[in-house]
Amino acid sequence: MEQSFAGRRALVTGAGKGIGRDTAKALFASGAQVVAVSRTQEDLTSLAQESPGIETLCVDLGDWEATERALSNIGPVDLLVNNAGVALLQPFLEVTKEACERSFDVNYRSVVQVSQIVSRGLIARGAPGAIVNVSSQASQCAIKDHAIYCSTKSAMDMLTKVMALELGPHKIRVNTVNPTVVMTAMGRANWSDAQKSEPMLKRIPLGKFAEVEDVVNSILFLLSDRSAMTTGSALLVDGGYLVG
Ligand code: NAP
Repeated sequence: MEQSFAGRRALVTGAGKGIGRDTAKALFASGAQVVAVSRTQEDLTSLAQESPGIETLCVDLGDWEATERALSNIGPVDLLVNNAGVALLQPFLEVTKEACERSFDVNYRSVVQVSQIVSRGLIARGAPGAIVNVSSQASQCAIKDHAIYCSTKSAMDMLTKVMALELGPHKIRVNTVNPTVVMTAMGRANWSDAQKSEPMLKRIPLGKFAEVEDVVNSILFLLSDRSAMTTGSALLVDGGYLVG
C-alpha cells in the first residue's frame, strides 16, 4: 500500500548519495516536503534537478559550529532521518586519533546535535514527530577492522533508546534501521573484494546483501504512522545475519 507523507516536512542527512539520496527521493515522491542535507554541493545540485522542489543544504555535519549555523533557520521539521555516516576502517592496533574523532563527530555527535535541533522545534510547536537513525548490523556484531565504526553504531543504538525514553512523552518516536552491507559508494569501497565479501555473504541466511530499496522501505515504515506504537527499536535489514 502506498504511504503518504503529504503535509509533513522531512530532513534527511547524507542525502547526496546512497541510502540517504534514495530516502529523500522516496519521501518527496510520497508527498513530503524534503530538506536534503549533505557535504558535496554537486550531489545536492543533481538531486534537486532530479526531484525539483527538494530543498538542499550543504554542510559538513562533522563541524558542530557550521551545523549550528546551517540549521539555525531550518523551520518546522516533522520527520528526521539521521543517515550521514563514514566508515573509516582500520585494524584496531592502527586506529588513529583522526579516524576516531571524525567517525564519532559524523556518525554520532551530529545525530545528537541535529536531533536536538529538530526535537526542540517539534516540542515548541507541540507537534508529533518521528526520527530514524541509520545504524548497522555492525552495532551488534564485531567485524574485523570495524572497531570504531562498530562502536559509533552501538553508541547510536543506545542513544536511540534514551532518546525514545525522553522524547516519547512529547510524541516523538525514535528508532534505528540496522542494515547489512549495501552496495552504495560506502559498500563498494569496503566490500568489493570477493575475498572479504564471500565469507560475509555466507553468513547471511538470505544469501545476499541488502538493496538500497530494502533500507529505504524500512526507514519509511518507521517514519510513518504504520509504526505508531514502535519506538526505541532496531529494525534489522540484515537478511538474518544477526541470528547466527
Ligand atoms: P554513502 O554512499 O557513502 O553516502 C553517504 C552520504 O552521507 C554521502 O552523501 C556523504 O556525502 C554524506 N556524508 C558523509 N559524511 C558527511 C558529513 N560529515 N556531512 C554531511 N554529509 C555527509 O553511504 P551509504 O552506504 O548510503 O550509507 C548511509 C548510512 O548507512 C551510513 O550511516 C552508513 O553507516 C549506513 N550503513 C551503510 C551500509 C553499507 O553497506 N553501505 C550498511 C549499514 C549501514 P559525501 O560523499 O559528500 O561525503
